[in-house]
Amino acid sequence: MSQRLITEVDRREFLARSGIAVAALAAPFSIGVGSARSVEAGAPISLPPLPYAQNALEPSISANTISFHYGRHHQAYVNNTLKLIAGTEFEKASLEDIVRKTAGKPDSAGLFNNAAQVYNHTFYWNSMKPGGGGEPGGAIAGRIKDSFGSYQKFVEEFSNAAATQFGSGWAWLVQEGARLRVLKTANAETPITMSVQPLITIDVWEHAYYLDYQNRRADYIKAFVEKLLHWDFAVKNLV
Ligand code: MN
Repeated sequence: MSQRLITEVDRREFLARSGIAVAALAAPFSIGVGSARSVEAGAPISLPPLPYAQNALEPSISANTISFHYGRHHQAYVNNTLKLIAGTEFEKASLEDIVRKTAGKPDSAGLFNNAAQVYNHTFYWNSMKPGGGGEPGGAIAGRIKDSFGSYQKFVEEFSNAAATQFGSGWAWLVQEGARLRVLKTANAETPITMSVQPLITIDVWEHAYYLDYQNRRADYIKAFVEKLLHWDFAVKNLV
């Protein structure tokens, strides 16, 4: 067997193990569904496999950034969530249920912050792909034109939201009824506690870009929009 074939087999095995990637291709985004396939009973919350190799987004996002962001930050949010739900009413709950039921409750802020960050980060990894970005075709092109006026107007609004989120947080493309909207959330806040459907997100916490871009958040946002944004994932999330 040639090296090329071995690599292809490895890639297929990786994809087969990647429950979240399979779920993302098959249905609107749901961490619960993806996790339930790999863990039939018991703790449904775990660190989902990345949908691509750690160096796959280079040069826009380095393997070094991903190794810390996914391997340390995201993993820590998973670990903290598991510690906080152990022995509580949330022990068997889905991630989405935990996030929704703890949102806005000061006594549950620690659990909300960690669980929502698990959700947001998995959504973020799936919002990107190697060779993504640029103007989409297909059905979502018309929705963008109807909702924002033009693709360029969408880029301006999305980039502006990401650039102006003060401190840590996220910018989102969401669906609200028939319309698409851009919104931004602070810290761990997430649209799944609002009556909108998330389609795409960009993480604008400094840990998402500082190793590669230092303080140049605008350059990171530009790379995300032009080279990484996974439009097929947005389309799969439409309801
Ligand atoms: Mn992050």
